[in-house]
Amino acid sequence: MSSDELRRPLWSAIERELLGGGFHPSRRLGQNFLREPRAVAAVVAAAELDPGARVVEIGPGYGVLSWELAARGAELIAVEIDPRLAEIVEELLAPFPNARVLRGDALAGKHELAPLWTDAIASWSAWSLVANLPYSIASPVIALVARLPVPPRRIVVTVQLEVAERLLAPPGGGDYGPLSVRVELAYRGVLVRKLSPGSFSPQPDVDSAIVRLDLRDDRPTGDDWPALDRLVDTLFQQRRKAVGGVLRKAVGSAETTTELLAAHGIEPDLRPERLAPEALLRLARDPRWKAVAGGE
Ligand code: SAM
Repeated sequence: MSSDELRRPLWSAIERELLGGGFHPSRRLGQNFLREPRAVAAVVAAAELDPGARVVEIGPGYGVLSWELAARGAELIAVEIDPRLAEIVEELLAPFPNARVLRGDALAGKHELAPLWTDAIASWSAWSLVANLPYSIASPVIALVARLPVPPRRIVVTVQLEVAERLLAPPGGGDYGPLSVRVELAYRGVLVRKLSPGSFSPQPDVDSAIVRLDLRDDRPTGDDWPALDRLVDTLFQQRRKAVGGVLRKAVGSAETTTELLAAHGIEPDLRPERLAPEALLRLARDPRWKAVAGGE
């Protein structure tokens, strides 16, 4: 089936019916539905999906994006927490044997993805995450999928503009922080398009953006993350102090700290916020740091 053979649902009618039936979009669940057709098309185009491509969508809502993905032949798993929306999207996707809705929370706590869907994709060797992410869980979802044993090879998401800026921030600026480091080490990112509140219904209070992230071949491995996490958390807690001083406290030896920084060509009086992701990964991989982080 292609989208030309299928009639695209009338989204305004679905929304009217939903609201008429007493549905109130939840702020807490970030229920701002993407309604601008060109924005939906931009998300789908940026995903560059071949027919049969495997896709996870977190938060399908009433299915505006899900329908486009399924109609293009994607093997889709959509994870929706709100049972009322899950029911609608299940009905909408019923004609597509290639699409499945999983009901529940995409996260199992603050720092873990829910096995509800990670188990369902355990056999997938290549997949993409395509979603208009709920604002409250966008950052953890992106940071957590980046460290799955098989991370998405592409992520195309609509997020709050402020989150997009953090995802793509270069070192040295105010937006650059732990999220930037964690995501930029695993992905090469671009801002596809900014979106004004008018692209959504109901309109959010903030601007948004579509971001595309492509998986790097030379990303950190599973073994790198514990030492990297410890390093990033240590350094960014005191991002404006001198890196030498901050590390000395964590390492517990001035001599080892001097050796560690010299080995990687890092000036001790540099501020942590000026260290590029690659420099942080090199430091994290150094056995002198791994010993501190408990990795060796
Ligand atoms: N994709 C739809 C669209 O673009 O119109 C809806 C996007 S809306 C920004 C976010 C969706 O995520 C809502 O349907 C909301 O119920 C769902 N959601 C919120 N928190 C969730 C969670 N923790 N797990 C799964 N879905 C969630």
